[in-house]
Amino acid sequence: MKFSDYRISPDIKQNLEKLGFKKPTDIQYKSIPPILNGEDVLAIAQTGTGKTASFAIPVIHLLQGRKRNDRPSGVRCLIMVPTRELAMQINEAIRTIGKGTNVKTCAIVGGVAQDPQIAQLEKGTDIVVATPGRLFDLISQGYLNLDRVEVLILDEADHMLDLGFINDIKGVITKIPKQRQTLFFSATIDERIKKLAYSIVRKAIRIQISPKNPVAKNITHSVAFIEMDDKRFFLERLIKENEDQKILVFVRTQVRAERVAKAMERVQIKAVTIHGGKDQKDRLKVMESFKNNHVKVLIATDVSARGIDVPGVNQVVNYDIPEQTENYVHRVGRTGRGTQKGLAIAFCSEEEKPLLTDIEDYIGQKITVQKINQEDYNHTLDYSEEHPHDWKSLLKEAETPKPKKKHKKRK
Ligand code: ADP
Ligand code: MG
Repeated sequence: MKFSDYRISPDIKQNLEKLGFKKPTDIQYKSIPPILNGEDVLAIAQTGTGKTASFAIPVIHLLQGRKRNDRPSGVRCLIMVPTRELAMQINEAIRTIGKGTNVKTCAIVGGVAQDPQIAQLEKGTDIVVATPGRLFDLISQGYLNLDRVEVLILDEADHMLDLGFINDIKGVITKIPKQRQTLFFSATIDERIKKLAYSIVRKAIRIQISPKNPVAKNITHSVAFIEMDDKRFFLERLIKENEDQKILVFVRTQVRAERVAKAMERVQIKAVTIHGGKDQKDRLKVMESFKNNHVKVLIATDVSARGIDVPGVNQVVNYDIPEQTENYVHRVGRTGRGTQKGLAIAFCSEEEKPLLTDIEDYIGQKITVQKINQEDYNHTLDYSEEHPHDWKSLLKEAETPKPKKKHKKRK
């Protein structure tokens, strides 16, 4: 089935064509028809499978077809999401898919001035994509009224629960009409998510895509065993050997993000960082430069990158093995988006091996090991531009009788 065969407005079809969307992904194929029929939907699908368009396409179509209500500020669809970046990204996607339909959307998020958002609400908007904090701020100041909401969407419900937004979600439910359509999207499912879902949907159509393997099928992922202190040399080589590729590197902490960026800078690799320690403006700037290919390497922590959709990421590098197993799935899911193919590699040190085992248990499969023989391993260390230019450490090494690190034998 192609999008051109769907009973959706010609405007939407045209926009999808411009986006290069020809056929629906699995989740889109299964969820668009029931949503068009006005049903509640509870959808679980791995990250990168195209959940945004699964709700954006039918909801824009429904809102375009239904008569506008008379109140200019009557919001008809509320989309709640866990992070600002995600809100802006979904808002943008809706704007693109809904171009020419007269369906208006705006993002209500914290970390930026509220006045432009208030101005948009006052002009009238059909869809609001919001994070909980700013949403409640504007409701309590009287700028936003949810009495007319016809469709409620929760995206990344699992992440919302992880971030402790449960009471905010419950609070919103009390402010919107009981008679409504509810769409619930999550990448994972467990008891708490089910409990939340069933407390807000009515007789939902349940859709689940390949629950057994949480990593989408178009992603090839593997692991290489590399000692902690050598990781930067392997990253340097990987980046230099794939100069035209867009590479997303995940590290465990903010400090490490900055440290790895510095190490790359020393070997003439331009990289930017994104993490919770940066303010919203910086984060947006960084994402923009990575999206536009001004910088090909982005070093990120988990918090800042979850749910973020950057088109065309060729490779994900797990520079550190994630401590929370499910983050592995979120990380590798940043590549191979939609119908594209993706590549992911994890650098695992001796001390990280238990974490790797946890991840394998979680995803229910062994991760393919990329064997590096000793010669190749040493070659990678020699390959680095860091040693030859670093005359101070060369001098130091000459003074000390210890064998050079790069020739050390691996156990
Ligand atoms: P999810 O929310 O499931 O993580 P997204 O909705 O962010 O995934 O979509 C992931 C990527 O796939 C986006 O870049 C999107 O543009 C692309 N995409 C979505 N649907 C299609 C499609 N039908 N054909 C091609 N690309 C698609
Ligand atoms: Mg999503």
